[in-house]
Amino acid sequence: MKCPVCQAEMVGEDFGGVNVDVCRDGCKGIWFDWFELSKLDQENEGFGGALKEAIESEKINDQDRGQITCPKCKQLMYIHKYKEANKVNVDECYRCSGFFLDSGELQMIRKGFMSEEESADYLQSLLAEVPEYQVQKDDFEKKQIRNAAIVKLTQYIRPSYYMKFFE
Ligand SMILES: [Zn+2]
Ligand SMILES: [Zn+2]
Repeated sequence: MKCPVCQAEMVGEDFGGVNVDVCRDGCKGIWFDWFELSKLDQENEGFGGALKEAIESEKINDQDRGQITCPKCKQLMYIHKYKEANKVNVDECYRCSGFFLDSGELQMIRKGFMSEEESADYLQSLLAEVPEYQVQKDDFEKKQIRNAAIVKLTQYIRPSYYMKFFE
């Protein structure tokens, strides 16, 4: 699969038994899938080399880039902005439930950019920011899965989560 930002070929990495795609040779972005993430077993978490490298990368992507096209289903992805447009964003595809983290976003958070309270706020905004057209066609189960995955994602973007890997 090609990276939606820089078009480099992404590599699969294990993230606690769940496959994520990492832009190892390009912008260091990370591609997840909400539904995969919701299945993640927290007892077996671990990082592959490329994923660790991506997580430790500084932010190198264009902070002002616009919407990106989903690498799987080619539709424009929705940008969940975190407070200011040039900071942490999550790009989500409402069709295939994929989402993309730019390079360095986890690194910025790990450095204390986002406090526990701020990440809790961001969780709420991710849960709430669903376009109306999506709410109408979503079945209840799919929504529950997405919500469970978002809760897990925001656990990963809290500084406290990364302490155990980087201390
Ligand atoms: Zn890339
Ligand atoms: Zn998609």
